[in-house]
Amino acid sequence: MIHDQEDFTIEPSAQPENRSCPQVSIVVPCYNEQAVLPETARALSAALDAMVLSGKAAPTSSICFIDDGSTDQTWAIIEDLAVSPRFHGIKLSRNHGHQRALLAGLLSTQGDILISIDADLQDDISAIEAMVSAYSGGAEIVYGVRKSRASDSFFKRFSALTYYRLLAMMGVQLTSNHADFRLLSRRAIEALREYRETNLFLRGLIPLLGFNTATVYYDRKERFAGESKYPLGKMLHLAIDGITSFSTVPLQLITVLGFTVSAASFGIGLWALWARLMHYPVVPGWTSTVVPLSALGGIQLISLGVIGQYLAKIYIEVKSRPRFIIEKIL
Ligand code: UDP
Ligand code: MG
Repeated sequence: MIHDQEDFTIEPSAQPENRSCPQVSIVVPCYNEQAVLPETARALSAALDAMVLSGKAAPTSSICFIDDGSTDQTWAIIEDLAVSPRFHGIKLSRNHGHQRALLAGLLSTQGDILISIDADLQDDISAIEAMVSAYSGGAEIVYGVRKSRASDSFFKRFSALTYYRLLAMMGVQLTSNHADFRLLSRRAIEALREYRETNLFLRGLIPLLGFNTATVYYDRKERFAGESKYPLGKMLHLAIDGITSFSTVPLQLITVLGFTVSAASFGIGLWALWARLMHYPVVPGWTSTVVPLSALGGIQLISLGVIGQYLAKIYIEVKSRPRFIIEKIL
């Protein structure tokens, strides 16, 4: 392909930046959150009002709730809230899952900076102001990082730690103890828009954007009300997406495993031949037949399973279906 001169000109940014008093949009995915939503709206709005009063956020700053196909009164509550210009709502056509609901909010909401936060008030709202200050200081991405995991169950703490270690071993760089509480500037959002993958793991994707980043530490609390919307199944799904969307190490491990097992089998074969030639009194037992046979069978099945996982990813990516469908915007 021939590039002409135009390919290399650098576009000046479309709008002048307003770092000191930006238009802030808080993006909140909600799935059956009727129990917490009124309180969340009140607390977020109070935080935003305080920032507008002190001149840290533009008066047009707002909060956008994304209804991820809730089956309770969540959308009705959002509709009532959206009467005020402070609140907006996006209704997805069905339950698309947390990551996609979040992406729908990030890609469809206006504002100089977008702050994503869970609906359940577990993340500390007072950290928002520190995030905006970091943006004013020049950061394009600000990660909210939990000081400790004390409010988690033992299982969640243990599984999260093991998982982050595993990902690090596979070369996926994540900010540990950071979930989806973060600030993204307009520039970062427009870069994120270019990533078109369907298997979404935003925690892995955002660090790939680069830019100037900052971190704000906070204490994570118990869920304000209602049940966790992340049952084990959904959590495992997200965990597998995190690995298979960012690392091909499992595929390489299969090759290593294949070589190791082949070498061992070759060794056993040589030993058998040697024993036979030297007329050692070896009883032709079934152990030496059954053990390698079953070991090989197991390894082959695991390997096929791992390859299948990646194949499934390719299958889904190739279809390039829309990642979310918006039914209504308020
Ligand atoms: N969520 C969503 N769609 C889903 C599941 C969850 O939008 O299918 C939202 C949920 O409403 C909440 C956030 O994702 O705002 C995180 O969920 P939750 O707090 O239940 O997860 P946990 O904190 O237990 O990991
Ligand atoms: Mg939660």
